[in-house]
Amino acid sequence: MPAENKKKDGKPPQPRNFGSSLLSLLVTLFLINYVVLPALGPGRTRVSYSEFLKQVRAGNVEEALLGETEIRYILKEGTEGAEATPAQPTSPSPSPPPSSPSSSFGEAHEPPSPSPPPPTTPEAPNFRDQQQPVYSTVPIADNTRNLVELLEENNVEFRAAPQGGFLSTLLGWVLPPLIFVGIWAWFLQRAQGGSAALTVGRSKARIYAEGNTGVTFDDVAGEDEAKAELEEIVEFLKQPDKYTRIGAVIPKGVLLVGPPGTGKTLLAKAIAGEAGVPFFSISGSEFIELFVGVGAARVRDLFQQAKQKAPCIVFIDELDALGKARSSNSALGSNDEQEQTLNQLLTEMDGFEGNTGVIIIAATNRPEVLDPALRRPGRFDRLVTVDRPDKLGREAILRVHAKKVQLDSDVDLGAIATRTPGFSGADLANLINEAALLAARKNQTLVRMADLNEAIERVIAGLERKSRVLNPLERKIVSYHEVGHAIVGFLMPGSNRVEKISIVPRGVGALGYTLQLPEEDRFLMAEDEIRGRIATLLGGRSSEEVVFGKVSTGASDDIQKATDLAERMVTIYGMNSKLGPVAFERIQQQFLNPNSARRIISPEVTALIDQEVQRIIDAAHQVAQEILRLNRDLLEEIAETLLQNEVLEGEALQQYLKRAKAPTELTDWLQTGEWQPLADELGNS
Ligand code: ADP
Ligand code: MG
Ligand code: ZN
Repeated sequence: MPAENKKKDGKPPQPRNFGSSLLSLLVTLFLINYVVLPALGPGRTRVSYSEFLKQVRAGNVEEALLGETEIRYILKEGTEGAEATPAQPTSPSPSPPPSSPSSSFGEAHEPPSPSPPPPTTPEAPNFRDQQQPVYSTVPIADNTRNLVELLEENNVEFRAAPQGGFLSTLLGWVLPPLIFVGIWAWFLQRAQGGSAALTVGRSKARIYAEGNTGVTFDDVAGEDEAKAELEEIVEFLKQPDKYTRIGAVIPKGVLLVGPPGTGKTLLAKAIAGEAGVPFFSISGSEFIELFVGVGAARVRDLFQQAKQKAPCIVFIDELDALGKARSSNSALGSNDEQEQTLNQLLTEMDGFEGNTGVIIIAATNRPEVLDPALRRPGRFDRLVTVDRPDKLGREAILRVHAKKVQLDSDVDLGAIATRTPGFSGADLANLINEAALLAARKNQTLVRMADLNEAIERVIAGLERKSRVLNPLERKIVSYHEVGHAIVGFLMPGSNRVEKISIVPRGVGALGYTLQLPEEDRFLMAEDEIRGRIATLLGGRSSEEVVFGKVSTGASDDIQKATDLAERMVTIYGMNSKLGPVAFERIQQQFLNPNSARRIISPEVTALIDQEVQRIIDAAHQVAQEILRLNRDLLEEIAETLLQNEVLEGEALQQYLKRAKAPTELTDWLQTGEWQPLADELGNS
């Protein structure tokens, strides 16, 4: 099936130079007619009409050719021609004679008696004596009749000037239509944006010349597993013999998969840089065009170019734009152009032998939408995961990017790495740059640790917005809300440490925020930690309830997150005793068709899920309220300080939080999720 698609090594249609070649043809004809042909004729000296008349009257003129627009003549041997007036050729007469001189006075055509008969060769009438210098002048309309008489009186031999030969006739007839066609073609070309329509089939792959990407594996930090996988590709590109001798076939296609900003594009460039081979780079979306079939032509063109340059690397970025599963949503109608392009890519990948030296690297952050055919052996069969970096990886990435800025000696990149779990390489690069910007704004010469910490907050929470002014009541509510988060968060298990409370508005929606940063990377979350997290999220709202007896709209985001977590506990993590370890939600899996997210569940179970989610939220809410009632005095104290200082962090904050007391039943609740508050014990604050 792929073989039949390969029927022709078709080139894209190439009418694109039509307009310009036509134009150059026209220019050439024009030049021939008006520059070359006249130049080929004998050189002529231009003189004024009066000079001509003077010479005729003086009897110096031997022979004259009378043309409609020009009179040429030669002088008798031995007579001095007047000095030419070369500077200004006589201006053409305002109205040329209406017809040729010969026809306007037919009877005057008797041959002049004294002179010998002219060599009657009408095809090529010319001067008999080619050696004589030829003079030329422009006739004046009303004088033609007098002129003939004058010439006869002075015994000048005269004839009609030669008509243009075959070539000028041809030009006269052919040139005007060609000019029109040329102008038309030129406008057509302009109207279509010069290159667009006529060059659509051309691949836009940018060619980075050998080693020109300027990126090596040293520039890619942290992704050690991915780099190890790719080393082999580099080895092959450097010395293919080593592999081909044994009979090994190197993978043709490598698929880099990972979240955005983890360095996939960077890695691909590094491979080319390390191997020192040409690097063709194109984005998947660049194959998709308005016209059906253009993308396919572009794929063909790209591979043709690549094969000529082998060994080389073809890098297709954002492959998902091109390689989406075909007809996955046929109800909406399939996308012909995209399918054709994908088919062409599959065909091309099958179409060359394993060891030609063309290696195709593709990157995507949505592997689950890719067409399964792309992953077949012989195509993108090598999958390299480029994941978010762990702590050591982050430190290494920070080090790479910190080389570009001047760091103060107090900067501890390890500590920064600890505080930035989940950051991608791009986030970290951005972090360093933000810190450098901050330092520069403060006219520092070095980037300090404080700048980096501020930059982390910026990346997480957005820019400070001091311009947003809250009224005193709002400030008070925000203050209590945030302190509520902080106190509950402090008492909960897990490695998240409360770093900072602030009531300076930031980013798009945050009026205040509580910054909790982890002390280590976590890959699992235990049941009690999730419960603690839910309670912490509800701490803000609970604080408003405890202090003001009513709630504001400020807690909506917290509530959303808490509910999501509770639902995941029940439907994905199997952390509910009534429902047990049954998955109700499908985790979207790689390379599976993304079907409906939820399994088909009976209405009873659906009701039970809702009920259990509700119960988890309720219990966490009560725990948070209980904690805040128990620590009401501390809550007031911290909130007052925060209102004055706007920001509370570091040692001062820890001193306050250390005084927080935990309710006795807290440990039980964290373990079991059951919270049975004893109503009579609650009223003490
Ligand atoms: P993507 O995976 O989305 O293609 P890029 O390769 O474009 O990500 O990375 C964007 C930028 O982030 C890079 O130019 C680089 O500055 C930085 N970066 C990402 N990952 C790394 C890494 N592992 N080491 C160093 N820099 C990185
Ligand atoms: Mg990329
Ligand atoms: Zn909140």
